[in-house]
Amino acid sequence: MLAAFSYVGFQRENCTVGEDVEKLKQRLPLLDYLQQQSWTARPIAFGPEFVGLCPLHPETRPSFYVNACKNLFYCHGCGQGGDLIRFVQLSRHLSFRQSVAYLEQRSTVPTDSVAVLEQAAIFYQQQLERHPEALRYLQQRGLRDPAVIKELRMGYAPGGSLRRHLTVQGYSFDLLQRLGLLNPQGCDAFYRRVIFPCCQGGRIANLYGRSIAAAFAHQFLPGSKGGLFAWESVRQFPTVILVEGLFDLVVLWQAGFRHTTCSLGTHLNAEQFQQLCGCPRTIYLTFDGDANGSGQQASQQLAQRLRAQGIITRRVILPDGHDPNSFFVQGGDARQFHSFLEAAQT
Ligand SMILES: [Zn+2]
Repeated sequence: MLAAFSYVGFQRENCTVGEDVEKLKQRLPLLDYLQQQSWTARPIAFGPEFVGLCPLHPETRPSFYVNACKNLFYCHGCGQGGDLIRFVQLSRHLSFRQSVAYLEQRSTVPTDSVAVLEQAAIFYQQQLERHPEALRYLQQRGLRDPAVIKELRMGYAPGGSLRRHLTVQGYSFDLLQRLGLLNPQGCDAFYRRVIFPCCQGGRIANLYGRSIAAAFAHQFLPGSKGGLFAWESVRQFPTVILVEGLFDLVVLWQAGFRHTTCSLGTHLNAEQFQQLCGCPRTIYLTFDGDANGSGQQASQQLAQRLRAQGIITRRVILPDGHDPNSFFVQGGDARQFHSFLEAAQT
């Protein structure tokens, strides 16, 4: 408890300088922060702009714009605008200094968090076997290969027992709450979700939870979603398939397309983008063929940005309304998917 508070205090002092605020904003991009707050948006044409409902004032038609390059927002409804710090000031009614301290706390991963996340992941992994509702859900999503489940270290949060499991091991309630594993009421934040550990450099950087019931949204722990999923094992391939959802990735891995990685959403953070640009390769962008066209729009936009970096891109067009997961779940096979790759547009 004490250690946690002095840690925050240290960050607070450390962040009075403008340079640190700039670093903080790079570490936690405005769009990432908004998405962590469940802000949903669609990209506008080919630019770096996104629009959605304003989180600062009630409205029914989207007038809140975010420029992901400039890291700024503006709302045409209430006239508010600015950077991440400004947004936190307005949305949480905090002073500038308080907002910076709040964000520092959210975006910095203290060292012992690595060990806690590892323990939480092990716990969730053990639970998966024991909960038929979770296994049924995986089956519904077309996942049947135990080797893939094991390799990706997938787990399940049945709720209620994580806190006891981790506090018995000596981790403080405060730390678990600060990491976002427990909600403000002290309950398991990932309740009834399938868990995917997101690893970076061999360590778990975040956890992604996909609800097995429609009622709960999918979610990450606070902080960056990290780099591309399973990038360590995919980066070696000269051609890479990029999908937006983890259940797209699992069915493709299962079908033998091991050169598939996932950006966890259509918006790539700076790190993910740099990973793709790291060496010359061809990238098959396989975003959802959703009815409103937002997946295809995002993929066109990303293709342009990648091409500007000298990366060869192909846009894979799936049958109407399908994402890779639904395609395989509804009986599609590897041979058919291969023909989509061959027909992919430049
Ligand atoms: Zn507004």
